[in-house]
Amino acid sequence: MNPIIESQIDGLKEVAHNLWWTWNQSAQLIFKELATMVWEETNHNAVAVLNSISPAELQARLRESTFGESVKEMLTDFDQYMHREKTWGSVNMAEFQQHPIAYFSPEFALHESLPIYSGGLGVLSGDHIKSASDLGIPMVGIGLFYRQGYFHQTLAVDGWQHETYVTNDPHNLPITLLRDKAGKPVVTFVEIGHSIVKLYVWKLNIGRIKLYLLDSNHPDNEEHYRELTARTYGGDITTRICQEIAMGIGGVRLLNTIGVEPSVYHMNEGHSAFLGLELAREKLLEGKTIEEAFAWVKEHCVFTTHTPVPAGHDRFTKDLMLFTLSNYSATLGISIDKIMEYGRVNPYDDKETFCMTVFALKMSRSTNAVSALHGDVTRKMWQGLFPDKPVEQVPITHITNGVHILGWMNSPTRKFWHKFLGEDWEYHIMQGDFWHKVSDPNFIPDEEIWALRYNLRRLLIEFTRMRLKEQQRRAGGNGVKLFDTFLSPDALTIGFSRRFATYKRAPLIFANIEKSLSMFNNEDRPLQIIFAGKAHPKDDNGKALIKRVVELSKHPQLFGKVAFIENYDINVARFLISGCDIWLNTPRRPLEASGTSGQKIAIHGGLNLGILDGWWREGYDSTNGFAIGKDEHPDNEKEQDRVDEENLYSVLLNEVIPTFYNRDAANIPRLWIMKIRKAMQTLIPKFNTDRMVADYATRIYKK
Ligand SMILES: *Cc1c(COP(=O)(O)O)cnc(C)c1O
Repeated sequence: MNPIIESQIDGLKEVAHNLWWTWNQSAQLIFKELATMVWEETNHNAVAVLNSISPAELQARLRESTFGESVKEMLTDFDQYMHREKTWGSVNMAEFQQHPIAYFSPEFALHESLPIYSGGLGVLSGDHIKSASDLGIPMVGIGLFYRQGYFHQTLAVDGWQHETYVTNDPHNLPITLLRDKAGKPVVTFVEIGHSIVKLYVWKLNIGRIKLYLLDSNHPDNEEHYRELTARTYGGDITTRICQEIAMGIGGVRLLNTIGVEPSVYHMNEGHSAFLGLELAREKLLEGKTIEEAFAWVKEHCVFTTHTPVPAGHDRFTKDLMLFTLSNYSATLGISIDKIMEYGRVNPYDDKETFCMTVFALKMSRSTNAVSALHGDVTRKMWQGLFPDKPVEQVPITHITNGVHILGWMNSPTRKFWHKFLGEDWEYHIMQGDFWHKVSDPNFIPDEEIWALRYNLRRLLIEFTRMRLKEQQRRAGGNGVKLFDTFLSPDALTIGFSRRFATYKRAPLIFANIEKSLSMFNNEDRPLQIIFAGKAHPKDDNGKALIKRVVELSKHPQLFGKVAFIENYDINVARFLISGCDIWLNTPRRPLEASGTSGQKIAIHGGLNLGILDGWWREGYDSTNGFAIGKDEHPDNEKEQDRVDEENLYSVLLNEVIPTFYNRDAANIPRLWIMKIRKAMQTLIPKFNTDRMVADYATRIYKK
């Protein structure tokens, strides 16, 4: 074979197995052009595309000059990315080169073709790793390989959610089984109860970073343990603790096996906190006392908490701890009674269960919440652990979440920014002054922004129509044609998509149905809304909210204006966050610890309309979007719902709708576009994971 073609084929395989391509549109286009139907049918899976093409076909395609040239350029970009020497990390984090940060998270949402995530926490972890790669920060990720991932959502005719599971085929995923030098699979293990549970390890490349996912599907394991890591947040509380043992203890052992000596262990949420026990075990073996061992652990661990309600934290009874950890505790030389003490607010209160968050807090030299308000809530919640400190001095800080801007972009948006900001804007994302020019209409004309908005809104509407037709066909197929004209590409389009947890109050915009009907049926100022989101399989209240939204979408006076897209995932999210004019967020304050979906829209010219909770409380400045209510909330839930409903209608009717439909002679909404500029200028440089990870690096990872 021609050596150039041969090296290009190797290069394509390497890129397909490095998720760098998920934030490089040229690479995506190449895989799409190679096998368009496979690409679409596999939810944009580069590995599946390559697996479907013979060497003969690949050679033939690469010999065509235009395609060959674009592959060559892309491979050069990849090579430069992987080998860039001067990075933010090389300048600011040089001391971490030999001893990286180990980042533990129960889920990683990296791309729609790798369905091993549930929602926001996974998106945050995935974006964290991608930015760490972009910044050149030494890091390894640890998580679990969920062979069946999270469930696929379908809705019955009455709107009730049904869950099905699909088994992922590793051969068609960008993962490889980790092997030792002799070619044998690397296997780590944990003790659970009286069993030894062996764990295979899958390796993923995410730009310059490696992520290792543990998998209990090993033939030597008892049948029920082979399924332990099958599903994201699957099973019951016993599954939960066993998964957490696998991740925390198994993860530390794996790092040992492969010779990685982290300088910091970052627990993203409390699920991985058992890593503290295993690190302590190592120190005990070196001859340290229990106190010295835990002091060492505390010096090396940091913790991010995400859960603002007490009931949301993992708690395990002593019986469950005994059942799962007694053998392990014997090898550790620390009794379950003693371990229980470390997981309680009041160590000697026998009635208190073992709390992973409490344990993580005690094992960490730094704990942070994920927004300023969430910091206040968290300090209050855990004040009991610091009885001698007033609440403002409880040592829990905050770093507000962000999103990986490049990964949340689509092709038209990428082209737009390329046109106005040139080649290397991607390295200036977190630089505030870089974005000032965006407010200047001479730099980017209004017409250009408005054209982008139309382009993205149409893509979303065509996508929604296609999905609704599919849903309709599956439900029996009546009236599929009706969906050809469903939703209008000219209408003010609102998006609401996220997990259907009750506190997020998805149907709030319909709280007063009379008001809503008149608002949605104003012919001069049409309004439409698209929903998507999954409820946890055990959350019947969340499912009831989905059902309510689906019923409303069938209301004769709302038909064609309200849509629910099934099976929310990263692909659906990308269409929604780019196509919507307004991103609606109505959590019961202060329960949205941060939220990130609203951060994904500024780069596409969308505007937020949200309760001043989580990140939006910090992002909103009165010129760059819309607020529902003020920086306060009643503590009575009923009253809160009433006030928020009133404020939502008022801001929609008095600000959002009039501003969108206030047009000049050229039919352009100048004031609306001014807000878009403000949103771009103020939000993009702040609410991104480059800024967030740089904050973690300088404030948390470094001592
Ligand atoms: C961004 C995102 C989320 C998080 O949404 P929030 O509004 O922050 O809760 C959840 N799921 C998917 C697929 C996402 O892309």
